[in-house]
Amino acid sequence: MQRFSCQTCGNEVYFENTRCVHCNAHLGFEPTRAEMLSAPDGLDFHAPDDEGDVYRLCANINDSACNWLLPANDPETLCLACRHNKVIPNLADQHAANLWRAIEQAKRVLFYSLVRWRLPMPTKAEDEQRGLAFSFLADEVMPDGSVKQHLTGHANGLITINIAEGDDAERERRRTQMNEPYRTLVGHFRHEVGHYYWDRLVADAGKEEEFRALFGDERADYGAALQQHYNAGPPIDWANNYISSYASAHPWEDFAETFAHYCHIVDSLETAGTFGLKVEHAGEAGRIHYDPYTQGSVPDLIESWVPLTVVMNAINRSMGQPDLYPFVLSKPVETKLEFIHRLIRDHVRQTMMPRKERRTPFLERFWSSI
Ligand SMILES: [Zn+2]
Ligand SMILES: [Zn+2]
Ligand SMILES: [Zn+2]
Repeated sequence: MQRFSCQTCGNEVYFENTRCVHCNAHLGFEPTRAEMLSAPDGLDFHAPDDEGDVYRLCANINDSACNWLLPANDPETLCLACRHNKVIPNLADQHAANLWRAIEQAKRVLFYSLVRWRLPMPTKAEDEQRGLAFSFLADEVMPDGSVKQHLTGHANGLITINIAEGDDAERERRRTQMNEPYRTLVGHFRHEVGHYYWDRLVADAGKEEEFRALFGDERADYGAALQQHYNAGPPIDWANNYISSYASAHPWEDFAETFAHYCHIVDSLETAGTFGLKVEHAGEAGRIHYDPYTQGSVPDLIESWVPLTVVMNAINRSMGQPDLYPFVLSKPVETKLEFIHRLIRDHVRQTMMPRKERRTPFLERFWSSI
């Protein structure tokens, strides 16, 4: 994630802010420019480069505190993250509405990365077959008193998140119950969208053979594999080959887990780089001087990432918090990360250059780096 400042007063502001705490201007994030814009009246947000582009806030600003912008003349009312929602919770239920707000915040973090990579993200209205959609569902009490539970998962482009995951205590209870070292909303989104991009970047692109050589044969019975995982647990040596024990359940889960980690690594490195954090490589302290979304190889990313996680884990321990990154990257995992890196970078290269008026300093760097 990049750093942002208020266009009106220059104060540092954050990705999730809707108002500047210093000058009280309304803030809006414009995803295609990856810029935070401000507007004292909260109505017209002007691009800083005087090209005449005007933006307005997403219609979800009040319901889910969505601070994303869309062009003022766009016939859509929702931003490009919110327009993928198929089902949202009943907003008359205040608790459900609060959980949804936390979920949407994490979803915008996901979309930030997807937009930076220019990954395909059609809505179901644009492409019923290949579109991406989200359902945020609450468990339902049926007339007979039984509870109908909704599982978090992905099927044909539809990502379902059980809104109970938006409740910190409940998510922590599930994390402990499942014996997981890490369970977050951002992690859920990055994992589930990994399944979606397996369909788009592997299956649609005819790269199954290349995938199978690294992750195994995904034609293995998925239901039986998951059952086996929950009954017998992961192989004893799973850490030698997988980023998490769950990744060992089935090649699709391995891909989704590894995809999520690729997102964690790239976005966290961008954050570290944009704040000027220095990490030590072979005894030498150096800044992350490249844009990890578009530059650097997987060995470059890992060379920056590992020392950074050592430091961050140590700081968290000083604060009595769990490790920031409780994972170990083995050689086979690095090779799988390489595969995902190539899928994304190949896609980036094939993406058409945007219209001149959409180009910004960030996009200029972006296009000149690929
Ligand atoms: Zn301000
Ligand atoms: Zn929105
Ligand atoms: Zn999964």
